Amino acid sequence: MIFFVTGGSRGIGEAIVLDALREGHDVAFTYRENRAAAERVLARAKDLAPGRRCLAYALDVRDSSAVESVADRVLDDLGDVHVVVPNAGIAINALAVNMSDEDWREVLDTNLTGAFYVVRQFLPTLIANRFGRIVLVSSMGRGGVSGQAAYAASKAGLVGLGRTLAKEYGKRGITTNTIVPGFIETDMTVERMSEDNRKFWLEYCPLERLGELSEVSKVVLFLASDGAGFINGHAIDITGGLEWAP
Ligand code: NAP
Repeated sequence: MIFFVTGGSRGIGEAIVLDALREGHDVAFTYRENRAAAERVLARAKDLAPGRRCLAYALDVRDSSAVESVADRVLDDLGDVHVVVPNAGIAINALAVNMSDEDWREVLDTNLTGAFYVVRQFLPTLIANRFGRIVLVSSMGRGGVSGQAAYAASKAGLVGLGRTLAKEYGKRGITTNTIVPGFIETDMTVERMSEDNRKFWLEYCPLERLGELSEVSKVVLFLASDGAGFINGHAIDITGGLEWAP
């Protein structure tokens, strides 16, 4: 199959790209501006799966016309797309009372509207194929996290978007599911998670540890597989059993 993954240059997106290649798929992934990180992923891809196609595209998912032109290029370059994973996301921390218009918009535009633009752009291809797998990337923060109002709102919005897509396109052979990871160590959590949050996590997560990248990427690969063909419209927690954040 052919995967399209946004934010594939680092963290969870990179793990999804590399696992998809390992499992014999071709991949187009995007990054916002860090070309060097994308080049490192391309080099790893070449070592890992020399026979597979892996291409990187610069894309700011907040820009709907850029999403349109990158999607067209991907379809020209790879011929098709079967699995769409709008993973790109950001977090900006501020108490609601202090959050600026700009910060609110940047988070919502990236995490929720950007994911919508990407899915909308590939839907005609998936519908024409009468097959598709869409995996949205929410967060345990969807339930509300103090200091992350915009992030929580965007991640809760993705669950509603996923359930809607599941209902609208299930009959066309397209499944949509949403993963809900907890605390996974990536650049995002190093930069945005406080020491208190880390302590809370280690104390209250039943598994007493953070999640690993592969524990997220392998769920995405499963949701894209034949074995997951009858799973549609779900939000799947990957949190080690922890259900809430402070
Ligand atoms: P990360 O390491 O910070 O990587 C973020 C990726 O998104 C990078 O590839 C970045 O590209 C890209 N990106 C950011 N803004 C973008 C934009 N406007 N347009 C296009 N690409 C953009 O993040 P991560 O921790 O892997 O998180 C990936 C996803 O998982 C996010 O949606 C996040 O909310 C979600 N998540 C993460 C955790 C966690 O614990 N890490 C938990 C739950 C959910 P550049 O490198 O070019 O900037």
